[in-house]
Amino acid sequence: MMESPCQSLWRASATDAPQLSALKGSHQVDLVIVGAGFTGLSTALHLAKEGMSVLLLEADELGYGGSGRNVGLVNAGVWLEPDLLDKQLGVEAGRRMYDALAVAPDSVFQLIEEYGIECEATRNGTLHAGVGQAGLAQLERRFAQLKLRGAPVSLLSAEQAQARIGSDKFNGALFDPRAGTIQPLSYVRGLAKAALKEGAKLFEYSPVTSLTSSQGNWLVKTPLGEVTASKVILATNAYCQYGVANQSSKFVPIAYSQLASQPLTSSQLAKILPNKEGVWDTCTVMSSFRLDQHGRLIFGGMGAEGRVLSNWASQRVRELFPSLGKLTWEYSWTGKIAYSADHLPHCQQLKEGLLSISGYSGRGIGPGTVMGMELAQWITGQREALSVPMTKLKDIPFREIQRIFYELGAQTYHLGQQTHALR
Ligand SMILES: Cc1cc2nc3c(=O)[nH]c(=O)nc-3n(C[C@H](O)[C@H](O)[C@H](O)COP(=O)(O)OP(=O)(O)OC[C@H]3O[C@@H](n4cnc5c(N)ncnc54)[C@H](O)[C@@H]3O)c2cc1C
Repeated sequence: MMESPCQSLWRASATDAPQLSALKGSHQVDLVIVGAGFTGLSTALHLAKEGMSVLLLEADELGYGGSGRNVGLVNAGVWLEPDLLDKQLGVEAGRRMYDALAVAPDSVFQLIEEYGIECEATRNGTLHAGVGQAGLAQLERRFAQLKLRGAPVSLLSAEQAQARIGSDKFNGALFDPRAGTIQPLSYVRGLAKAALKEGAKLFEYSPVTSLTSSQGNWLVKTPLGEVTASKVILATNAYCQYGVANQSSKFVPIAYSQLASQPLTSSQLAKILPNKEGVWDTCTVMSSFRLDQHGRLIFGGMGAEGRVLSNWASQRVRELFPSLGKLTWEYSWTGKIAYSADHLPHCQQLKEGLLSISGYSGRGIGPGTVMGMELAQWITGQREALSVPMTKLKDIPFREIQRIFYELGAQTYHLGQQTHALR
């Protein structure tokens, strides 16, 4: 019987957070940012660097949202296949977004280097692992589309994938050397320290409870303080609280849970992910795995939580890596992924001076970082447009029913896999 750990590895192993307080009293700045994840912090950092007075408000602690809970795969591009991106947005806008986000890992790793952010940064690429013939066909399609756009990807055979992953259960893998892995909460904390260094003001435990506009200014209220600014950027993604500008209704939040094992032995590490790439698979109910700097195996899956997920993860790890034997899971945590209707990020001009950026659909490390840079360039007049669409996101109808549908589907899948394995 598995014990039930429920602590995040990222929280347990992150670098120190900067000491921040809650907002008190009245303030006036050029721009307020709501939310301290990759998007909000990158925006604060880059705007402060441009000399603007910026104040960021976080409802909880830095990285409380998806940014402090994710897998840490710094991937290029967006979730959708490149051709689908062109189909959804039209070729010109699709290519603009593809080009900007294809180099997103460069932006992340350059920032890490520039500000000396300690976050277990490893740029050895990622592997998209093909499950079954359908998975391989998906990888072949993606490979052809990425090659047409000049991406330096390679399609590995089942034997090559086995050598890189240490499992014979995949029909092939798409290797992307542009990508890498990070400790995501340490990256968040490092971005916050960089933003403070550039002069941004950051506050934790300061939930924005109301936003009102009058005569070209916004009044942003928190329980103990208030700020006036001409512009407000909402960077709250799946974790929007207090119904700020009704952002929650624009996406379906799907749970994604992860477990981390005890550190593997050096002989196990010689066989499993010897190059330390991050991996995710082609299944509709996706799973992912990677190592941290101490050689812990971090295994994640969509939809399920608690005992269902941990039993399934133990079973799946035994199938993939039988030589590991029984693993002890020492950490476990869950996050919410914000799926927008078209699975793409959008910047919305909600009202004059009020912007929101959200809907990363499970790929936000590179895009969130890049959007922060682009917003700063756009607001300071250095670029004409962002590389994501400036559209009002529509409310997703029956989003709670859709969430339950996805999560029940994933639970059934995980339970079904266990039953199948017991036969
Ligand atoms: C489990 C999981 C795994 C993932 N894996 C990957 C991955 O491997 N690679 C990848 O690229 N992406 C991944 N993602 C997606 C990525 O983590 C997100 O897209 C990204 O973190 C979004 O960043 P953000 O800054 O926009 O929002 P968030 O990080 O969610 O931050 C929003 C913040 O806003 C705050 N907030 C909300 N309301 C208020 C309010 N009223 N007042 C003040 N503050 C408020 C919240 O407390 C929160 O801290 C994953 C996501 C999850 C959940």
